[in-house]
Amino acid sequence: LFSNHSFGAVPALVGALVVGGALGAVLAARVAMTAMPQLVAVLHSFVGLAAVLVGMSNHYGPHEGLVGAAAAIHSSEIYLGVLIGAVTFTGSIVAFGKLQELIGSKPLLLPGRHLINLGILIVCLVLGVQFVAAGPGEGATLLMIMTALSLFLGAHLVLAIGGADMPVVVSMLNSYSGWAAAATGFMLANDLLILTGALVGSSGAILSYIMCRAMNRSFLSVILGGFGSETTSAKKAKEAGLTAASAAPTHDPIATSVAETAELLKEAKSVIIIPGYGMAVAQAQHPIREITTLLRDKGVDVRFAIHPVAGRLPGHMNVLLAEANVPYDIVLEMDEINDDFPACDVALIIGANDIVNPGALDDPASPIYGMPVLECWKSRASIVLKRGMATGYSGIDNPLFYKANTLMLFGDAKKSVDGILTALRG
Ligand code: NDP
Repeated sequence: LFSNHSFGAVPALVGALVVGGALGAVLAARVAMTAMPQLVAVLHSFVGLAAVLVGMSNHYGPHEGLVGAAAAIHSSEIYLGVLIGAVTFTGSIVAFGKLQELIGSKPLLLPGRHLINLGILIVCLVLGVQFVAAGPGEGATLLMIMTALSLFLGAHLVLAIGGADMPVVVSMLNSYSGWAAAATGFMLANDLLILTGALVGSSGAILSYIMCRAMNRSFLSVILGGFGSETTSAKKAKEAGLTAASAAPTHDPIATSVAETAELLKEAKSVIIIPGYGMAVAQAQHPIREITTLLRDKGVDVRFAIHPVAGRLPGHMNVLLAEANVPYDIVLEMDEINDDFPACDVALIIGANDIVNPGALDDPASPIYGMPVLECWKSRASIVLKRGMATGYSGIDNPLFYKANTLMLFGDAKKSVDGILTALRG
């Protein structure tokens, strides 16, 4: 723009920048912490859409002086940018729908879905070769067909991914949006866009890898989808000749009261607090910090156990606890604290569900079988603070609630925690 000295478009660009920036700032400032993943998904979809639009306008724009290898490279950049952008766009829209619970969290498993995806990729590859061979400005129909196929592919890929794998999907789309931006950077010969796109792309890929490791899943199996469906897990269990150890409830859930919970906490020597999505919904972190201070002053060893996929964002719980000024040295990762539960008197589970589901370890038919979880049931008593018997994000029952050493403190987590605090002070 500036090298051409064509300043005519500047007012329009600045106007768009101001309007877009203001909209983004207002949205980000107003969004609830619990709705942050949805916002992130929507923002990823914008990056994807931008890559598609820039690619299209580049294709229809002037191509003076581009011949031979330079022309082929330019066409390839356009093609790749549009492809990654389109996959990111619809994938992110579907991820938004799933996180907003507009679309069910169960994976959509079309018959022959791997063949469908593979077929689309092969067709896109063939179209790509023809598109590059056609030369700059030519082959618009090929580009359009590929765009339609990629839009379908993005939606289909994410629809096939089950609830518990969503954390990886969010980081994966983050990575895709980075690569889409980098491809746009190549298209426009814009080094800054290439650099920032590559940074986002690679950090998203590293985060996806970390999340996969935390959930004991391979990246490929996440992309291929199906995790979280009854059918896949049950089939695998049957094939392995395994039977469910904790599938059927053995006990009715035992309800407890605020007063009894406070008593148990007072008597405990060691307490481990497990925060989950419900703590974020209830915004219970501040009174929890006050309970922690009170108990620590009385000589109780209080620590926090953080599961890598707790809440709805990577690091969600850490952010909330830091906001409430919980000291960092008592906030421990799952691997650091999981062996300590047998020596713990009370595990206080605040609005967590999937991350403390024993079925993930001992019920081969469980849709989340194989995912490491916080083994709170090994402590002397587990107290679960939640409103009712509703399932968590992955939509599956939790045998923890029916164990003989589990107590259920029903009610909004903030109200319960406030009550416990008052009882402890009293
Ligand atoms: P879950 O979604 O498994 O469970 C949260 C529980 O909180 C619910 O069962 C609900 O039960 C309870 N709850 C909701 N509101 C309140 C409230 N106001 N007071 C008390 N309890 C409340 O959360 P977890 O943190 O255990 O697990 C996270 C899940 O989210 C995993 O399945 C993970 O894969 C998925 N996920 C994680 C992402 C990430 O990046 N961290 C991203 C996307 C998905 P009730 O209604 O009965 O109160």
